Amino acid sequence: PAVFGMEIEEAPDVQFSQIGGLDTQISEIREIVELPLKRPDLFTSVGIEPPKGVLLHGPPGTGKTILAKAVAQSTEATFMRVVGSEFVQKYIGEGARLVRELFELAKSKSPAIILIDELDAIGARRMDGATSGDREVQRTLMQILAEMDGFDARGEVKLIAATNRLDMLDPALLRPGRFDRVIEIPLPSKEARESILKIHTKGMNLDRDVNLRLIAELSEGSSGADLKALSTEAGMYAIREERTTVYQSDFERAAAKILLKERNHMAEPE
Ligand code: ATP
Repeated sequence: PAVFGMEIEEAPDVQFSQIGGLDTQISEIREIVELPLKRPDLFTSVGIEPPKGVLLHGPPGTGKTILAKAVAQSTEATFMRVVGSEFVQKYIGEGARLVRELFELAKSKSPAIILIDELDAIGARRMDGATSGDREVQRTLMQILAEMDGFDARGEVKLIAATNRLDMLDPALLRPGRFDRVIEIPLPSKEARESILKIHTKGMNLDRDVNLRLIAELSEGSSGADLKALSTEAGMYAIREERTTVYQSDFERAAAKILLKERNHMAEPE
């Protein structure tokens, strides 16, 4: 079936080694998603049902998407990503049908991992006095719940959902047999920031005096995505001055710029 607005990748090109500072979360997601796909016999012999889905929650840009992609890579699964807000905004009246097609396609391409990004856009707590737009969103949500209840936990389709707003989610999503495993993906600690900076500067031509630990100290509050942007920005300072080597001062200027942008962003009224 033709499913529009969906990103599909066979075994995406992302390794766990490209993810910094999330070692605990990586082992958790491997146990929840990878183990049942690779060793279904373990679950059969012990006589338990593996989880069907896992929910990742945390601030934007902390690595939720790359984590889901890395699991698809390690299980050689088809990776299918849909974005909650797009279901709502672009495909008005089509949400429920799209969900059905999504699960059908996943079954035909199994092993498959479905990532529902921005789950809160479709999975927000139901409120009284819903408008017709809200009712449409609810139909989409009901279809997701029905599909999850209908598919076999021992099958080869697994669901990963991501949200920045765990508090907003409809509790029905978190019931047993649905997204009953929750993993927090927090902003990186100082040590985590250093390992993320190492990952993103690996291919860069760094001066020997570059001290990534110091940059990690300077960049408190930054996400993995911010640190990637910071590394690129440091490289840009070198290019602007027609150098091929990136200096510590480039990183410091880039950090100042990125951090300033973040503070301004935080100061913006909601
Ligand atoms: P959002 O909630 O905004 O969708 P996300 O948590 O899904 O964000 P990603 O899309 O996974 O974030 O991250 C964006 C980019 O930032 C990644 O492609 C990666 O390059 C970088 N990045 C984020 N977190 C990490 C990390 N922990 N280690 C290495 N790189 C990271």
